[in-house]
Amino acid sequence: MQITEIYKSLQGESTYAGLPCIFVRLTGCNLRCSWCDTEYSFYGGKKMTPEQVLAEVEGLSPSNGLVEITGGEPMLQERELVPLMQQLLDLRYKVLLETSGERPLESVPAAVVKIVDVKCPGSGEAETFRLENLETLTPHDEVKFVMSERGDYEFARHFTLQHDLASRVNSVLFSPAFRKQASETRDASNCLLDPQELAEWMLEDNVPARLSLQIHKLIWDPALKGV
Ligand code: SF4
Repeated sequence: MQITEIYKSLQGESTYAGLPCIFVRLTGCNLRCSWCDTEYSFYGGKKMTPEQVLAEVEGLSPSNGLVEITGGEPMLQERELVPLMQQLLDLRYKVLLETSGERPLESVPAAVVKIVDVKCPGSGEAETFRLENLETLTPHDEVKFVMSERGDYEFARHFTLQHDLASRVNSVLFSPAFRKQASETRDASNCLLDPQELAEWMLEDNVPARLSLQIHKLIWDPALKGV
């Protein structure tokens, strides 16, 4: 497998936010979101066997812990990733999978919590969501919309209602995008969409969704990698 980094931090942007978590970041992505904050994962990384990845995860956290598989787009390495996720589950880890929603998700083990993006127009990757993936969602999964402008909010609200997402998954996450060139200040000024504005729209429309902030960017310098 091609791996960019494996590290321990706090989970930052889901209903698991704030929990200690081991991140396994896989190299490579087939999308190019305008506000992507992990472009360093597009290339490079190092070759590791699934056994080496497991050993590194076990060195950072005993079983029962939380492991997030992320990228890049992890499902580009589906052939090795699916058995690895199953092994992590067998070792009694709770496994989260962050995915762009563009790759088929049918092969993901049912016990894995999928956190599936639906790309909004402002990302520059609208219409990449694979609609068949809606059928793979289970009540423990989450769907995330990252937004940089009002049009993204309108798109997310419409998609959420149209597909009745709130009844399909544990949580629908509305998340303001962060600036790529974020300043060192650890506050909402780095958000492309003001969280206060987003909160007010959500309250006004009674959207069945949760406002989600990338808390790791409010705890540490937003430009820092490996946190
Ligand atoms: S899918 Fe994720 S890793 Fe790929 S470009 Fe978009 S934000 Fe970046």
